[in-house]
Amino acid sequence: MTSPAAAPRPYRRIATEEAWAPPEMFDLFRRILGEHPEDDPGFMSLMGYYALGDGERPRFIRERMVDTEGVRLQEMDAAGVDHQILALTAPGTNPLAAAQATDLARVANDHLGDIVRKRPDRFSGLAAVPFTAADAGAAELERAVTQLGLKGAILNSHVRDRYTDSPEFLPFYEAAASLGVPVYLHPNAPSAGLFKPLHDRGLDGSMYGFGVETGLHLMRLVVSGVFERFPALKLVVGHLGEAVPFWLNRIDYMYGKQVATGRYAHVKPLPLKPSEYIRRNVWITTSGMPWEDEIMFVRKMMGADRVMYAMDYPYQYEPSEVELQDKLPLTDEERFEFFEGIATRVFDLEL
Ligand code: CA
Repeated sequence: MTSPAAAPRPYRRIATEEAWAPPEMFDLFRRILGEHPEDDPGFMSLMGYYALGDGERPRFIRERMVDTEGVRLQEMDAAGVDHQILALTAPGTNPLAAAQATDLARVANDHLGDIVRKRPDRFSGLAAVPFTAADAGAAELERAVTQLGLKGAILNSHVRDRYTDSPEFLPFYEAAASLGVPVYLHPNAPSAGLFKPLHDRGLDGSMYGFGVETGLHLMRLVVSGVFERFPALKLVVGHLGEAVPFWLNRIDYMYGKQVATGRYAHVKPLPLKPSEYIRRNVWITTSGMPWEDEIMFVRKMMGADRVMYAMDYPYQYEPSEVELQDKLPLTDEERFEFFEGIATRVFDLEL
């Protein structure tokens, strides 16, 4: 069924957090789940469902995930989405050891490069990165951007329980900053330490746990000084900023108290407030969060030029949510920026 949002309009809708995977990823994950499922309960919860599940929803997701020529284009047209920025779905290469992660990233990026070359009007791509490689995937990011035309990197939260501010990932951030491409910080199943209290109540997934896990990564990146070290680094965060914009004033206030009292000897104070790094280095998307009250609040907290549209296809394919965002109380110019302008600049798209 075609949504009213599919009608002609004076802007393109660029959806910025859209999931994709090559069939090889599902084959590999099915093999791993068959061998060592107990090693990684978060991975088992996430991919045990989406890669192995035979219910209606996992089959719906798998069919769309590997497609860029059939049902995906039909559903983009029906919902009025002109362009998707595709990224290897969570957990990406993160659960894999270096050699396997490198292989999967190369396969995914080569495949995504082909998709983008074939339909540059409909698709752009973010690079999968082998974060467990010795250079944290810096070389593969550079290859994907300079040789394959991909527009940034996808970082699916923790890498085998290592948080994204860990020192071994600095070469990756350095490469992203020097290439001038954004890093999209995306959820993953919670790390081992966070998994149990969330999973006990069925809260480990996108309902709640993803936001807790990913918001924690964002805050760790800020207070660890990654943005102080790489002022040009661009980070994109979905789901309206994983609740961090709601906390921003309290974060600044309590950070100030902690610094003033020297409470944590192991945490080095930074010259800027947390909110100053977040408003300087971070852009927010509305993936899975189409509601007016939340979007207008986050625009106010972050600045309107930092909040852009995303759908979260195919996990949250709801054409009515495009209509909701079409009706946001914005001027024509603001609506253009929200759906097209900001994404075009942040991801350096040539549409
Ligand atoms: Ca997503």
